[in-house]
Amino acid sequence: MPLTQLIYTSRVTMEGSAEALMGILKSSLRHNQETRITGMLLYSRGTFLQVLEGRELEVDETYSKIAKDTRHQELVVLEKAPILRRSFNDWTMGFRHGDRVEAAALSGYTPILDRGFSASDLIRDPNFAKELLQKFAQGSRETETPNDSPS
Ligand code: FAD
Repeated sequence: MPLTQLIYTSRVTMEGSAEALMGILKSSLRHNQETRITGMLLYSRGTFLQVLEGRELEVDETYSKIAKDTRHQELVVLEKAPILRRSFNDWTMGFRHGDRVEAAALSGYTPILDRGFSASDLIRDPNFAKELLQKFAQGSRETETPNDSPS
């Protein structure tokens, strides 16, 4: 079955507390390992940007579950497309708290992260969203935990 990559953005409904983010991350890591989904989840200013990649059926099923999750709303799919290989192969689900960006390689993105991820901006240029997710993955050696960056 072909591989698919899906990128979406959303807005939190709950307080973006470390505990709440940790709950999301824990279940993502557990489920994604079982379904062989890889990707990256970014959080900034009450908004999420996530990429999911894997076999199409698993990506669709995972996204359906995520879309029903009441911890976020206003989900907008920025792109869903077939891919030849995974870009986030090393990540069951990498996590980065974009409110605290220190890596010099990412400093150019500070203005975007200061506002949070805007679906209306990103939908005009899904490649930019992909580039942003990849920059975060490259700038990270390990999955950050929400507790590393208290809100
Ligand atoms: P568990 O993992 O056992 O849930 C743990 C706790 O989370 C529950 O006790 C409950 O307090 C809370 N919870 C679970 N589901 C919901 C819900 N629908 N609404 C409110 N609270 C809930 N899942 C993945 O498998 N892969 C992902 O990559 C992924 N990314 C996510 C990204 C975001 C931004 C969000 C908000 C959620 C994401 N999830 C992801 C979680 C997904 O939406 C489901 O909540 C999860 O897969 C349900 O797993 P489970 O039924 O085994 O519950």
